[in-house]
Amino acid sequence: MRINVEEAIEKLLANQLVAMPTETVYGLAARLTCPGAIKKIFEIKGRSLVNPLIIHVANPIDVCAYAIALPPHFDALTHAFWPGPLTLIVPIQLDLVDSIVRAGLPTAAFRMPSHPLTLHVIRAVGPLVMPSANLSGKPSSTDVKHVEMDFGLDFPVLDGGPCQEGVESTILHYRNSQWEIARLGALSATVFQPILGYEPIYQKIVKNDQIISPGQMFRHYAPQATLFLGDQKQITEADFIVGFTEKSYPVEKRVLYLGSLSNPHEVAENLYAVLRQLDFEKAKIAWVDMDFPSEGLWKTIAERLSRAGEK
Ligand code: AMP
Ligand code: MG
Repeated sequence: MRINVEEAIEKLLANQLVAMPTETVYGLAARLTCPGAIKKIFEIKGRSLVNPLIIHVANPIDVCAYAIALPPHFDALTHAFWPGPLTLIVPIQLDLVDSIVRAGLPTAAFRMPSHPLTLHVIRAVGPLVMPSANLSGKPSSTDVKHVEMDFGLDFPVLDGGPCQEGVESTILHYRNSQWEIARLGALSATVFQPILGYEPIYQKIVKNDQIISPGQMFRHYAPQATLFLGDQKQITEADFIVGFTEKSYPVEKRVLYLGSLSNPHEVAENLYAVLRQLDFEKAKIAWVDMDFPSEGLWKTIAERLSRAGEK
């Protein structure tokens, strides 16, 4: 059910869930102060309770209400990138954020999204927790149609058009006197150099037995089809090819185009829609062209495709 901003505000205030647009992907929102509604998010997504949620705020100053102390460069980072696709993990006062939100961790993740409709709603109802609006394990939703595919036509969704970034936020975590990337995302490591004086490194899952970002442990972004990632020998077995507009592929295959090799933003924007299109067309095996640059946003694209291909 497509709803307007006033209806979204009304439903959230009545402790109901609403799917909402952001510039990265659509989110499934509940108010931070409603643990009952938040529990429902985990239930309807089929999300593990050990996978914490991002708190979405309308102003950087709102984080101060929850944080014990803000890590160095917090203000410079929010000044440079908020509103936008950057999530920052900070140590918080435990009694102020329900344990279900942070999966029992002593930290919480914060972001200020830039989508004007969602900012308007947050200003009206207070901070929202909002994981991606997809069934756990499936590709994220970058259009209202995707939300409807996963949660049905009756589920309330605020239509904000297609998402501009198309991939999730970059998550930074401050550890051992440095910011590190806990999840690759729409912002690549290089953009932080002028602010931090160094490029944050990407820590994959676990270091010294410490979980950096629990979400990294779970199967994610996957279509029904088996994905073959880039191995030329496997191309004959595939019924579909996921590739790039300037490349040519065997004519007998159905090709779904991610976009141009000269435009990683376009590719990121189309990524989840293409993975969902494979499901829609009942693809069995899709061969994915992984022959693209490895720098910047391409790194995030490669990571999403690799995770989508995990069985
Ligand atoms: P999603 O909402 O589906 O984009 O996933 C949220 C991501 O944020 C997951 O990868 C979580 O692991 C990560 N996250 C949220 N809160 C924390 C936290 N306190 N510490 C580390 N990672 C977090
Ligand atoms: Mg997600």
